Amino acid sequence: MKYLVICGGTVSGIGKGTIVSSIGVILKACGYKLTAIKIDPYLNIDAGTMSPYEHGEVFVLDDGGEVDLDLGNYERFLNLTLTWDHNITTGKIYKNIIEKERRGDYLGKTVQVVPHVTDEIQNWIFRVSQQPIFDRDTNEESKPDICLVEVGGTVGDIEGATYFEALRQLILKVGLENVCLIFTSFVPYLRGSGELKTKPTQHGNKELRSLGLIADMIVCRSEVPLDMATKEKIALFTNARPDRVFCCEDVNTVYKVPVQLESQGISKQICDKLNIEWRVPNLSRY
Ligand code: ADP
Repeated sequence: MKYLVICGGTVSGIGKGTIVSSIGVILKACGYKLTAIKIDPYLNIDAGTMSPYEHGEVFVLDDGGEVDLDLGNYERFLNLTLTWDHNITTGKIYKNIIEKERRGDYLGKTVQVVPHVTDEIQNWIFRVSQQPIFDRDTNEESKPDICLVEVGGTVGDIEGATYFEALRQLILKVGLENVCLIFTSFVPYLRGSGELKTKPTQHGNKELRSLGLIADMIVCRSEVPLDMATKEKIALFTNARPDRVFCCEDVNTVYKVPVQLESQGISKQICDKLNIEWRVPNLSRY
């Protein structure tokens, strides 16, 4: 099993979910079978009780699961049927832990964030990533090759810290060659001076490195395309290679994002990082 982990820095709402879904489309077009997990670090069990004014629409899955609307993006882009289990929330994780503690499963141990919560998160990811998934394109259920894992919120948020620690441990367990970590960020464009500013990305990425994680790739949301000098500067400050810094420019429909990312060669870089064969993706549908 290969894992593609996506997190975001600088600001929320930069299109992380769209970028994850688009990368999924590209990898599916390369011939790989995918599954997807969305992590939401809030304490609610699921999105069913959350106000749509505050949270956005609740997405209802075929199994009745009321989840974050990012899962709707994954289903629409990837044509997969996901389940309630594909959305991890802090509420779900703690509910499991408290039930285990009441049953005495921890055998008198002090139940702690590390290792008990971090183990629960990793076990959830290991279990759900292996589950066969129904593909509506082929009408078949099969075991996935790659699991997309999107961490909601922004790097540096207090509530997300446990998930980043769990992911750091997960990467150590499965091996660096089986994980591609993508950091998404915002690169503001100062219209008056015509400048793209990389400082927020530098700081956001520094926050990620302080958690013991080094991103393999950077995807920058920006109003205008990133020139090579800007990509090189971002690479220098983030430890990613310049050819692994990508731009996700504003588009009039999000269905253009897969082609935009692939035109910069993202699938080759992801396949190389994950140590899997690269096949030219057929994106003619987009
Ligand atoms: P996040 O997961 O970071 O919260 P989303 O993927 O949900 O972000 O996107 C937030 C909003 O931005 C959505 O309305 C989406 O349609 C829009 N969006 C995302 N990427 C782009 C883009 N490249 N160009 C224009 N709009 C975008």
